[in-house]
Amino acid sequence: MGYIDLHVHSNASDGTMTPEEVVDCAAKAGLSAIALTDHDTTAGISKALAAEKKRRDAGLFAPAVIPGTELSCSWFHDGKETEIHILGLFIEPEQKDFKAFLEDMISARESRNSEILRRLAADGILLSMEDLTEGISDTVITRAHFASALIKRGYVSTVEQAFKRYLASGGKYCPLKKTVEPKDAVSLILKAGGFPVFAHPMRYHLSWREIEALTAELSGAGLQGMEVYYSSHTAEQSRRLRSLCRLFHLLPTGGSDFHGAKKPDIHIGTGYGGMRVSDLLLKDIIEFRANSSR
Ligand code: AMP
Ligand code: MN
Ligand code: MN
Ligand code: MN
Repeated sequence: MGYIDLHVHSNASDGTMTPEEVVDCAAKAGLSAIALTDHDTTAGISKALAAEKKRRDAGLFAPAVIPGTELSCSWFHDGKETEIHILGLFIEPEQKDFKAFLEDMISARESRNSEILRRLAADGILLSMEDLTEGISDTVITRAHFASALIKRGYVSTVEQAFKRYLASGGKYCPLKKTVEPKDAVSLILKAGGFPVFAHPMRYHLSWREIEALTAELSGAGLQGMEVYYSSHTAEQSRRLRSLCRLFHLLPTGGSDFHGAKKPDIHIGTGYGGMRVSDLLLKDIIEFRANSSR
């Protein structure tokens, strides 16, 4: 049996490795497949696919690269807003509506980032674009990048301080982000030929009741998978999520949420060390997709 990792970041978003390095790292770990799932972008996919091909052409072992993305969404429920992530596996990056959606989100982000820079500068806190990108072009700048830059420039000493003082969304320095509802993200992923997955359901501080309500809502929109196996999930959590999958006819998926040196304790394929995701899950997904396109 082989092992896979269906949730991996590169420096196309907030991972530290290039897509090529991610592919090499997965090969070294002996994984038979990985999904590149950078936040709100598909920019790394062509590089990862090229790296896979290059290894194969050179007669080297290579993981199959599945083009993916991880969309940040806002779920409005019970009078509160919760950030929810939806993974899209097997996405077609060039699909018209999907591409337009990502471009729209990225341009909204760019305006927000400029506004944060402007508001900080007005209070004498000076950061440059270069402080944020750290020389990586094509990267999606998030508040995490602002936190690193604020530390590097000596305005704060910890990430926590940076978020508390300067980066609260909707606070003095940081406008609210343009959002998409998770059920609309599911529809967009389906439209782009993708397989929509409810990412790391335990990470949102929701009750099981709320997780069930959200799963029901997403199922109504065509959700197909749930991330049952994840670096921080306990065996009991995975078990409960598996029963939720059965209830809503979802296929289980699994991934580490690898970010390279940014989250050094999370290893590709094994998470904190104990996670293993069987390639049989991927076989089920591929079979399901073949059957539903017939
Ligand atoms: P954005 O999408 O620009 O709102 O930024 C999201 C990024 O900021 C993600 O990488 C989060 O993990 C990170 N983030 C959000 N809130 C915090 C916090 N309180 N402490 C540390 N990181 C945070
Ligand atoms: Mn991330
Ligand atoms: Mn996530
Ligand atoms: Mn992730």
